[in-house]
Amino acid sequence: MSRHHPDESLLTEFAGGQLSPAVALCVRVHLNHCALCQQNVERLMMVGGALLDSLPGEAVADSLFDQIMARIEQEPEVLPLASKAHASTLTLLQPWLPSGNWKDLAWKTQWFNVFEYVLQLGAFGRDRLSLVRINAGGRAPGHGHHGREVTVVLQGGFSDARGHYEVGDFVVMDGRHQHSPRAFEDGDCICLSLLEGPVRLTGALGQGIDLLRRFFNPALYRS
Ligand SMILES: [Zn+2]
Repeated sequence: MSRHHPDESLLTEFAGGQLSPAVALCVRVHLNHCALCQQNVERLMMVGGALLDSLPGEAVADSLFDQIMARIEQEPEVLPLASKAHASTLTLLQPWLPSGNWKDLAWKTQWFNVFEYVLQLGAFGRDRLSLVRINAGGRAPGHGHHGREVTVVLQGGFSDARGHYEVGDFVVMDGRHQHSPRAFEDGDCICLSLLEGPVRLTGALGQGIDLLRRFFNPALYRS
């Protein structure tokens, strides 16, 4: 059972179909591992339905109902009707995995022990959704964030100054947070990682590389 979950406002936005495709995919992957959040999403959907029933004015209620039904029909897999009916994480990520699993991907070196595989560049707008692998015992460079970073652990686990994260855990970092994740010693850690803005490396070396990134990718830093 996961110990780190999306907060209630994220789950509410998920249940209402209001999240970006990339964040929604991260939440869906977490739901695969978390019966508690599945129940919460189911409850939120029931509450949403009850609210609709209590809205005055049939015209407004009909319109809202149609919108919600259209969303549900578009994304039937988000319905947590039966926990065992959830697609596996691999199935969710299948459209972006040419080899059918994440072991044989063409990983790009991102740092000494850190590798990245971007899930179809551009498919998620400016969001950068990728798989990140930190080799057993490896440490990612200390970094802060210009935007929100969402991480869902798919294999192994990592720790930073704020906690320990294992398979299924859902971690949100934003501009207030800096961290230096370190993979557990007993195996490679693979995470689904969403960056809503570029990371801001800390430390002298990190700042130098960050400046180079700004130089080569100025568009990434425009708000
Ligand atoms: Zn959860």
